[in-house]
Amino acid sequence: MPTRPLLAILATLAALGQAPASESVSSATIEVILIEGTNMAASLSPDGQTLAIDLIGRIWTLPADGGQATALTDPFGDTRAPHWSPDGRRIAFQAYWAGDYDIWVVDRDGSNLEQLTSGPFDDREPHWSPDGSRVAFSSDRGGTYDIWEVTVESGATRAMTDGADNEYNPAYGPDGRRIAFVTDGPDGGIWIQRGSANPSRIVDLAGGQGYAPAWSPDGGSVSYVRIANGVSELSVIVSDGVDGVGSRVSSNNEDVFPFRASWTSDGRLVYTADGRIRSRPSGGGRSSDIEFTASVTLERPTYRKALRSFDPDGPHPVRGIVSPSLSPSGDAVIFIALGDLWSMKIGSAPVALTDDPFVELDPMWSPDGLWIAYASDREGGIDIYVRDVATGAERKLTTDGGTNPAWSPDGSEIAYTGGEGQDRALRVVTVTTGTVRTVRTGLNNPGRPTWSPDGRSIAVSALWTYSSRFREGVNRPLLLPVDQAVSQEDALPVAALTEGNGWAGDIGLQPETALQANEHWLDFAPHGSLASRGTDGPVWSPNGRMMTYVASGVLWVVQVSPGGDPLGPPSRLNNEQSSDPTWAGDSGSILYLTTNRLRRVWLENGRIEDVPLPMTWSRVVPSERYVIHAGELFDGVSSRLRRNVDIVIDGHRIVRVTDHATELHQGRVVDASDGVVSPGLVEMHMHGGLGSGEQAGRQWLSYGVTTVRTPAADPYEMVEVRESNAVGRRIHPRMFGTGNTIDGSRVYYAGAPALSASGQVELGIQHAEDLAFDVLKTYVRLSDAIQRRVIEDAHELGIPVTSHELYPGVAYGADGVEHVRGTSRRGYSTKVSALNRSYQDVVELLARSGMTLTPTVGIYGGYALLGEEDPTLFDDPRIQVFMPGGAERARRGGSSDTRRRMVEDMASLGRRVIEQGGTVVLGTDSPILPQGLSLIAEMQALVEYGRIPAIDVMRATTSIPAKAMGYGDEFGSIRAGMLADLIVLGANPLSDIRAIRDVRMVIKDGRVYTLDQLLERPMR
Ligand SMILES: [Zn+2]
Ligand SMILES: [Zn+2]
Repeated sequence: MPTRPLLAILATLAALGQAPASESVSSATIEVILIEGTNMAASLSPDGQTLAIDLIGRIWTLPADGGQATALTDPFGDTRAPHWSPDGRRIAFQAYWAGDYDIWVVDRDGSNLEQLTSGPFDDREPHWSPDGSRVAFSSDRGGTYDIWEVTVESGATRAMTDGADNEYNPAYGPDGRRIAFVTDGPDGGIWIQRGSANPSRIVDLAGGQGYAPAWSPDGGSVSYVRIANGVSELSVIVSDGVDGVGSRVSSNNEDVFPFRASWTSDGRLVYTADGRIRSRPSGGGRSSDIEFTASVTLERPTYRKALRSFDPDGPHPVRGIVSPSLSPSGDAVIFIALGDLWSMKIGSAPVALTDDPFVELDPMWSPDGLWIAYASDREGGIDIYVRDVATGAERKLTTDGGTNPAWSPDGSEIAYTGGEGQDRALRVVTVTTGTVRTVRTGLNNPGRPTWSPDGRSIAVSALWTYSSRFREGVNRPLLLPVDQAVSQEDALPVAALTEGNGWAGDIGLQPETALQANEHWLDFAPHGSLASRGTDGPVWSPNGRMMTYVASGVLWVVQVSPGGDPLGPPSRLNNEQSSDPTWAGDSGSILYLTTNRLRRVWLENGRIEDVPLPMTWSRVVPSERYVIHAGELFDGVSSRLRRNVDIVIDGHRIVRVTDHATELHQGRVVDASDGVVSPGLVEMHMHGGLGSGEQAGRQWLSYGVTTVRTPAADPYEMVEVRESNAVGRRIHPRMFGTGNTIDGSRVYYAGAPALSASGQVELGIQHAEDLAFDVLKTYVRLSDAIQRRVIEDAHELGIPVTSHELYPGVAYGADGVEHVRGTSRRGYSTKVSALNRSYQDVVELLARSGMTLTPTVGIYGGYALLGEEDPTLFDDPRIQVFMPGGAERARRGGSSDTRRRMVEDMASLGRRVIEQGGTVVLGTDSPILPQGLSLIAEMQALVEYGRIPAIDVMRATTSIPAKAMGYGDEFGSIRAGMLADLIVLGANPLSDIRAIRDVRMVIKDGRVYTLDQLLERPMR
């Protein structure tokens, strides 16, 4: 593998047109000129001569009357929110170089870059004091966002506010004694604090979102931005009133960005809106725009994608090993693979304990080794079953969707997670009686529980957040008494909890809010975060004296007190990507998964051994040769349908596509003479592993979806879906995907491991290689420098990388952008404004780079609006069978001109990218929206609200995504040699996209399914 400097040289050579033929990655250089900025902030220098802007996350300066912008910061800092020092010599801003936001300053010529604040917290939105000695900023270092200030000379910091809500967007008054800021929460508004007096609210935001107060030079007025109901306004209000409403400065329908305006000495406001830098009299009136150009360079790589084979070329070793569990005797393992539950005496071949097309998950031994608890959906919903190991007799134990069973030390009870959606409750069921009690609600998808040795408490991995302003936090072990009285109403979401327990104590802060009685965070993970809220621990040892868990990608053990508190520093047990640790009954060894195998570590001497899993899979393909006679054919590319076509299928491939010929009608003929045959649809952004159950595969196929891609999943479940589908155990679209996201030090989703050591990135890349991930997803808290490293390393393995971020990933070869909007560490999108509008920078970067955009407008209101405006979407047997109640859920909030305009503006980004030659693919973030229905709704929404021609939407769900993934010669279009993934529709979707609803037949890998077959649950 070449070193990085060599790669840089190769890139340069490639740019000069001398790409060395032997290297896997070369790149082309593209220069892009930006003339607009989406959600860009601007600050006018005190002398009124120079503007600082934060276009695409870099600080630039330009003349105040417009012109060419000069970058002061590199592409990796996500540098934002510039503000000039009063002497006009320096600019303060927030930067993400360290993997969290800190306040930095730089001289106006780009020299003397200096870091003013540091630490694991986020410091944002700097504002210089009038005397230049201090910089105010907002920070989550106190458990909520508060206003802090740093003394420039000494670096000393101090809190200026300590409200229970979040305070942010500070601005010193011109006298230096007052400070204006914004709060959220029930008392949300624009506030002014005068010295040590209680703050007073000058603007009641009345439920809207407020931003960015800015003082007039005489201190008599404050400008601010308010966004509500699809309107974003810049207003001005007197600074000494109470709960007023400002007078609007901006014009009707102006898309004002949520950043601080600058007042000029002649009473104008310079602010950003509609992608422009704009100037307008503070009393309202005619505006003028300040034109700029900014040049950025994109290095776009060419590399050979690592492709998988879809031909029967097995046997392959089984890699989709899910939730392995070591027996108390230490000589056997149970696990899920190829769609069933298996038991393996170590050293022997595995034996299947189930044999059905349903999913099994989460097997766990009872402490005496006589029972196994596991979950399955074989009676409909997923629930927990217990199995007598000796007799094989089984009993269903839960009815509330239970998963993640964990036996109490005496074997009489099982703790598990149950209930609907994200707010899964921690519950305990008595094994003999089935009596269920709830231990805790309000935890955001807690991990698999583990019991204290006395059976009176359980520990889980839970999300600890830094504030309620942003949702990200770290996964920390939380200890809960099993028998506390808790009701649904009492339970606080953990997001509201800020108890410190030594955590916040690192910087000398006291806990502000207690957890519920007898609950406490355990402090033993190095750098704070457990790997995930899943099966990565903590797991209490059977003797009660230790816990094991995964952090920084690797396995740890720590001695604990009977109450679970650490008795010393943890010990690292290995140096490889690890997950799913379980203990032997004697507490002497731990079984775990590492990339593509099972291993076991002995605590006594640190010895690590492979646990062989002699199990293979081979792809099963049909062998029949038959003909589909198509009345009309959409081949995935051409805008003209071909009439009267015979498609000859042999096994799993198309072998011939020709004008109808009677002599071909031999043997089986699938008569689609009154239908339109299209390639099967490709869904590029879905989630869901085993937890979606057996039904998910049939549901996707019933809507014509024959290929799906998941940009974040449990890696072993993703592989299990691939393998169980290949062997024909479960019907499912062809699965492409990745494992966990590669994120920064803070995470949100249960499956996402936080980055707490830089070596973790290498482990993650190794994991991707060993499990043959089809894509990598970098997530929103990852620093841009590490993202670049991931992109380079992934490309060397032939794996594409996608993320929510546009720049700078687009400049360093990122392959895709997920979501028009998408969650962002900034609190606002850099791709779309609060009013859902995107400007030239976004369109240009997407179109010129060719990176894929997966809009997912459905989850941002497109689906609900369509469901409201066209309820015939739900007149469908698939709704009754697969999602009773789902149709109702879609119709929320109603249709209004505002909602419609917002969806239209958002969906139009896809059209503009296509018009300018860019690449749009479709995805839906299902199961947030129901599988399959989500995609056909997205297709219709993009045609109706985005005014994208139906042909482009059809290509974006067939040939284009296949090509983007490197499989343009395997599926996504219909011609000889391609995999036989076809759908038969009742009408032509190019003339009316709603025809995509009318799926008569689905052919995947050559197997023909009628809609009725797909609606039918398989027999046990
Ligand atoms: Zn024919
Ligand atoms: Zn997603």
